[in-house]
Amino acid sequence: MMKQQNNSILFLEPVMKQMVWGGSRLRDEFGYVIPGEDTGECWAVSAHPNGDCKIRSGDFEGKTLSELWDNERALFGSIAVDRFPLLAKIIDAKEDLSIQVHPDDQYAKAYENGSLGKTECWYILDAPRDAKLVIGHSARTKEELANRIAREQWSELLVKVPVRKGDFIQIDPGTVHAITAGIMILEIQQSSDITYRLYDYGRLSGGIPRELHIKKSMEVIQIPTTDLNQMVSHCDNLPKDTWNQLVVSDYYLVWKLEVEKGVCFQQNFPFLIMNVIEGDGLMNGQHIKKGDHFILPNLFGEVQLQGKMSLILSTIPQKYIV
Ligand code: ZN
Repeated sequence: MMKQQNNSILFLEPVMKQMVWGGSRLRDEFGYVIPGEDTGECWAVSAHPNGDCKIRSGDFEGKTLSELWDNERALFGSIAVDRFPLLAKIIDAKEDLSIQVHPDDQYAKAYENGSLGKTECWYILDAPRDAKLVIGHSARTKEELANRIAREQWSELLVKVPVRKGDFIQIDPGTVHAITAGIMILEIQQSSDITYRLYDYGRLSGGIPRELHIKKSMEVIQIPTTDLNQMVSHCDNLPKDTWNQLVVSDYYLVWKLEVEKGVCFQQNFPFLIMNVIEGDGLMNGQHIKKGDHFILPNLFGEVQLQGKMSLILSTIPQKYIV
């Protein structure tokens, strides 16, 4: 009985991405095999065509998450979405990422071949002392924004927010943002790969500058920026052995769970994504550890967690259930 149940845990094989700003911490701290010393992203749970994760073991070993979505839909419950909706990544920013912004669903559908927009959120896995993220801008009008961008007055335009390990940040579409050097994050986002770059520090990638997307950025940037106080929260000291909700958005629900004495719950969501971000332990008797990513499918039933570990849990909001 127990064995049968554990076979339906969908453990995923991450897809690694080399980036001009990437490093080696995905290997050094998470134990993944990386393709180079410039590995920036680990697509940990993804059915997106640009990085479709394979199932690591069990009944569906070797199949991709998108194949399961197409052919084994019952695993994901009965939800009114046209693709596997979420994507979870770990990002290792050895250098600063470009200053960027993402479109919403409406804009992406019209101008990006039917793609989803990109609402995302970040759990800070590690940050250097005095780390700051770029979140938002100071322009009050579109003219002011256009002028600052044209004159490359980035220090006047961009808003920097101090962050530390354990912070959580919600990034709505239209929010100018950038992850900065030395930060590692776990990102939960809509399954989308649409990024508009405003500024890339004049860097070269393979000898040429990466493309900028000023016009599209100008069309999607929110003016003025949303209140920052609603976007950043500290969650390094939450109660143990209980689900702590980090965000309720239109696209995902995210929790942090720190296991200390043990936790037992029923998996009653259409699906539940689990990312182990620290420590290790047992789930229904099976060993799980930092860097493991898996999905508990629909009707999974009882889950028993023991050990000393931290997990980020996510699923889609109830409104999608049909
Ligand atoms: Zn982003």
